[in-house]
Amino acid sequence: MSDCLFCKIIDGEIPSDKVYEDDYVYAFKDINPVAPVHVIVCPKEHISCADDINEENSAYIAKIFTAIPKIASELGLQNGYRIINNCKEDGGQSVMHLHFHLIGGVKLGEKII
Ligand code: AMP
Ligand code: ZN
Repeated sequence: MSDCLFCKIIDGEIPSDKVYEDDYVYAFKDINPVAPVHVIVCPKEHISCADDINEENSAYIAKIFTAIPKIASELGLQNGYRIINNCKEDGGQSVMHLHFHLIGGVKLGEKII
Protein backbone atom coordinates (compact mmCIF):
# COMPACT_ATOMS: atom_id res chain seq x y z
CA MET A 1 0.00 0.00 0.00
CA SER A 2 1.63 3.21 -1.23
CA ASP A 3 0.53 5.60 1.52
CA CYS A 4 1.04 3.25 4.47
CA LEU A 5 3.80 4.25 6.90
CA PHE A 6 4.65 0.70 7.93
CA CYS A 7 4.66 -0.57 4.32
CA LYS A 8 7.20 2.19 3.59
CA ILE A 9 9.29 1.11 6.58
CA ILE A 10 9.14 -2.54 5.47
CA ASP A 11 10.16 -1.51 1.92
CA GLY A 12 13.06 0.57 3.30
CA GLU A 13 11.64 3.86 1.96
CA ILE A 14 11.52 5.17 5.54
CA PRO A 15 14.39 4.24 7.88
CA SER A 16 13.79 2.07 10.93
CA ASP A 17 15.79 0.45 13.68
CA LYS A 18 15.22 -3.15 12.54
CA VAL A 19 15.49 -5.93 15.11
CA TYR A 20 14.16 -8.90 13.08
CA GLU A 21 13.16 -9.81 9.54
CA ASP A 22 12.11 -12.95 7.68
CA ASP A 23 9.99 -13.62 4.58
CA TYR A 24 6.76 -12.81 6.44
CA VAL A 25 7.68 -10.59 9.38
CA TYR A 26 9.42 -7.24 9.93
CA ALA A 27 10.13 -5.91 13.42
CA PHE A 28 11.64 -2.58 14.46
CA LYS A 29 12.03 -0.40 17.54
CA ASP A 30 9.12 1.90 18.31
CA ILE A 31 10.07 5.54 17.77
CA ASN A 32 8.32 6.50 21.03
CA PRO A 33 9.07 3.63 23.45
CA VAL A 34 6.93 3.16 26.55
CA ALA A 35 9.36 0.66 28.15
CA PRO A 36 13.07 -0.23 27.87
CA VAL A 37 12.13 -2.69 25.11
CA HIS A 38 9.34 -1.63 22.76
CA VAL A 39 9.29 -3.31 19.36
CA ILE A 40 6.67 -3.13 16.60
CA VAL A 41 6.13 -6.52 14.93
CA CYS A 42 4.40 -6.36 11.53
CA PRO A 43 3.35 -8.71 8.76
CA LYS A 44 5.14 -7.88 5.50
CA GLU A 45 1.79 -7.99 3.73
CA HIS A 46 -0.48 -5.00 4.26
CA ILE A 47 -3.25 -6.12 6.60
CA SER A 48 -5.01 -3.07 8.02
CA CYS A 49 -5.97 -4.35 11.43
CA ALA A 50 -6.90 -7.42 13.48
CA ASP A 51 -10.40 -7.24 12.00
CA ASP A 52 -8.93 -8.09 8.58
CA ILE A 53 -7.21 -11.34 9.60
CA ASN A 54 -8.71 -14.22 7.62
CA GLU A 55 -7.98 -17.75 6.35
CA GLU A 56 -5.94 -16.38 3.41
CA ASN A 57 -3.55 -14.21 5.44
CA SER A 58 -3.44 -16.00 8.79
CA ALA A 59 -0.06 -17.58 7.96
CA TYR A 60 1.41 -14.13 8.62
CA ILE A 61 -0.02 -14.19 12.11
CA ALA A 62 1.45 -17.61 12.83
CA LYS A 63 4.83 -16.36 11.59
CA ILE A 64 4.58 -13.27 13.80
CA PHE A 65 3.92 -15.36 16.89
CA THR A 66 6.75 -17.70 15.94
CA ALA A 67 9.12 -14.75 15.57
CA ILE A 68 8.15 -13.06 18.84
CA PRO A 69 9.89 -15.58 21.16
CA LYS A 70 13.05 -15.27 19.05
CA ILE A 71 12.94 -11.47 19.22
CA ALA A 72 12.18 -11.56 22.95
CA SER A 73 15.08 -13.90 23.61
CA GLU A 74 17.42 -11.77 21.49
CA LEU A 75 16.43 -8.65 23.42
CA GLY A 76 16.86 -10.23 26.85
CA LEU A 77 13.22 -10.62 27.83
CA GLN A 78 13.71 -13.97 29.58
CA ASN A 79 11.55 -12.77 32.51
CA GLY A 80 8.58 -12.10 30.25
CA TYR A 81 6.92 -9.41 28.22
CA ARG A 82 3.60 -8.09 27.02
CA ILE A 83 2.12 -8.22 23.51
CA ILE A 84 -0.47 -5.59 22.63
CA ASN A 85 -2.57 -5.04 19.54
CA ASN A 86 -4.69 -1.93 19.18
CA CYS A 87 -7.56 -2.43 16.71
CA LYS A 88 -9.23 0.52 14.96
CA GLU A 89 -10.51 3.69 16.56
CA ASP A 90 -11.87 2.42 19.87
CA GLY A 91 -8.76 0.28 20.36
CA GLY A 92 -6.52 3.32 19.86
CA GLN A 93 -4.87 2.16 16.62
CA SER A 94 -2.99 5.06 15.00
CA VAL A 95 -1.18 3.26 12.14
CA MET A 96 -3.53 1.21 9.98
CA HIS A 97 -1.10 -1.61 9.24
CA LEU A 98 -1.59 -4.54 11.60
CA HIS A 99 1.15 -4.64 14.24
CA PHE A 100 1.85 -6.06 17.65
CA HIS A 101 3.65 -4.06 20.32
CA LEU A 102 6.25 -6.23 22.09
CA ILE A 103 6.99 -4.50 25.37
CA GLY A 104 9.27 -5.42 28.25
CA GLY A 105 12.58 -4.95 29.98
CA VAL A 106 10.84 -3.86 33.17
CA LYS A 107 8.14 -5.28 35.45
CA LEU A 108 5.02 -3.89 33.79
CA GLY A 109 2.10 -2.52 35.78
CA GLU A 110 -1.29 -1.08 34.86
CA LYS A 111 -3.03 -4.11 33.47
CA ILE A 112 -6.51 -3.48 32.05
CA ILE A 113 -7.23 -7.21 31.93
P1 AMP B 1 -0.68 2.11 17.36
O1 AMP B 1 -1.04 3.38 18.09
O2 AMP B 1 -1.05 0.86 18.07
O3 AMP B 1 -1.21 2.15 15.94
O4 AMP B 1 0.90 2.06 17.28
C1 AMP B 1 1.65 2.80 16.38
C2 AMP B 1 3.04 2.88 16.94
O5 AMP B 1 3.92 3.21 15.87
C3 AMP B 1 3.23 3.95 18.02
O6 AMP B 1 3.68 3.32 19.22
C4 AMP B 1 4.28 4.90 17.43
O7 AMP B 1 5.20 5.37 18.40
C5 AMP B 1 4.95 4.00 16.40
N1 AMP B 1 5.56 4.70 15.29
C6 AMP B 1 5.00 5.68 14.53
N2 AMP B 1 5.85 6.05 13.55
C7 AMP B 1 6.98 5.31 13.72
C8 AMP B 1 8.22 5.24 13.04
N3 AMP B 1 8.51 6.02 11.97
N4 AMP B 1 9.16 4.37 13.47
C9 AMP B 1 8.91 3.59 14.55
N5 AMP B 1 7.74 3.60 15.22
C10 AMP B 1 6.79 4.45 14.82
ZN1 ZN C 1 0.88 -1.23 5.19
